[in-house]
Amino acid sequence: MMTKIENVDLLFTGADLYTLNEDEPVIYNGAIAVVGNTIAAIGPASDVAARCQNIKRTVDCSGTVIMPGLIDAHTHQFQLLGRTLGDGMSLLPWLANFMLPLAASVDSKHALAAVELAALNSALSGTTAVVDNHYAPVDAETTLAVAHSMQRVGIRGAVARGIFGPMVEGGVRMNCDERLFKYSAKEELEITEHCLQQQPANSLVQIWPAPVNTVYIDKELMQASLELAVKHDVSWHAHMSESQFEVEIHESVYGQRPVNWLHDNGLLTDRTTFAHGIWLDDEEIKLLGNAKSTIIHNPVSNQYLASGIIKLGPLLEAGANIALGTDGVAVAGSDMFEAMKSAQMLQHLREYDAESTSAELMLHLACRNGGQMLRKNVGVLKTGALADFISVDLRGAHNQPATRAVCSLTSSVRGSDVCHVVVDGEHIVADGRSTKVDQDKVVADAIQASKQIIEKAGITDLVAAWRSPKRFYTSK
Ligand SMILES: [Zn+2]
Repeated sequence: MMTKIENVDLLFTGADLYTLNEDEPVIYNGAIAVVGNTIAAIGPASDVAARCQNIKRTVDCSGTVIMPGLIDAHTHQFQLLGRTLGDGMSLLPWLANFMLPLAASVDSKHALAAVELAALNSALSGTTAVVDNHYAPVDAETTLAVAHSMQRVGIRGAVARGIFGPMVEGGVRMNCDERLFKYSAKEELEITEHCLQQQPANSLVQIWPAPVNTVYIDKELMQASLELAVKHDVSWHAHMSESQFEVEIHESVYGQRPVNWLHDNGLLTDRTTFAHGIWLDDEEIKLLGNAKSTIIHNPVSNQYLASGIIKLGPLLEAGANIALGTDGVAVAGSDMFEAMKSAQMLQHLREYDAESTSAELMLHLACRNGGQMLRKNVGVLKTGALADFISVDLRGAHNQPATRAVCSLTSSVRGSDVCHVVVDGEHIVADGRSTKVDQDKVVADAIQASKQIIEKAGITDLVAAWRSPKRFYTSK
């Protein structure tokens, strides 16, 4: 006899379920019952309905697909302030002439306005968890306020607090803005630990130590960041080998390739999460795989900044955990459906092999592997998992016919097709609208903050209504 579930908080019914649980990957006309923050039952709609008692709210999801919430494993929400600016620049000038001056000028009020809209963008487009590598400004109050803003919108994740510490040789070579290196190593660690105590590992939004880039952060400070992550049972985060010149700088400063150096300094563990990891040789891939470290692939950003294409197959085969990210609204928007599609297309082109990925693999990267990185029971739909899932409407003309719906999810679906979002058992988006915040006010506040910061950062020269198309014709 099937056990009854008393007092069901939410019942989502009538959808086809793409569970990412290999025991039962697809359930047609299924239902999910939520009790508290957990999936209490999942299965064919009639079976689940027969078990549920005292249902507080039923949501009819006929014509939609329910899947685990998408996990944006690397972004910079404050960068929304510079949305549409910095086009036509490669990474080094992009950082030196646009992003770092912007970052150095951002105050708490600007940052929070941007974070709230970025988090709202994420929630509305089906992203249920975000790792926000927040590095401007990084005082304790703002760092915690970023976490609170995300929680107010209702999403899960982490504020990976950007740590700079003292300026080192790599930072000078990278032309980093000195104003970001304003705290001593001791202060960086104290602020991060204070934030970790306020938002511990069991919080909806955690705090992670995030020495910003392996090429321009002091070695001891990176080691202390890992220790802090272990002590508080969270992951830690950094940028690594995004561009070829970073690797060249690393080799010239340390005499070793980045991953060999990280390995020799005890920095590769299963809590280690690196954004990018594009320029890796075979030995580096093996070391990352052996350590079960996470590499976050940011396919749209990597195209935008012409950084390169990740070696997806070799990294997965070596045993590394590969998650997907957007890497900031200023370069890639916040639509994880777009990230899945781009990741797939890029690999096909890199390998000249259309069999090198699949829609199913992309969903795993975007959901399950992100969950593994968060060290949370999310990214899969099964009894006992945390209730983080989305319902996607496939009835629009641009999605029909959806004969093999799993391919719709990675080819034609847009974030705006998401109609319901549940995070931690809470129904945070209903019929495409936030149930948590005033959307119009969040948008207006972010526009206002963006205008102010463009003036303050002295980057008004980047604001041009139109530039001559001729300047892009010259081949190098
Ligand atoms: Zn980044």
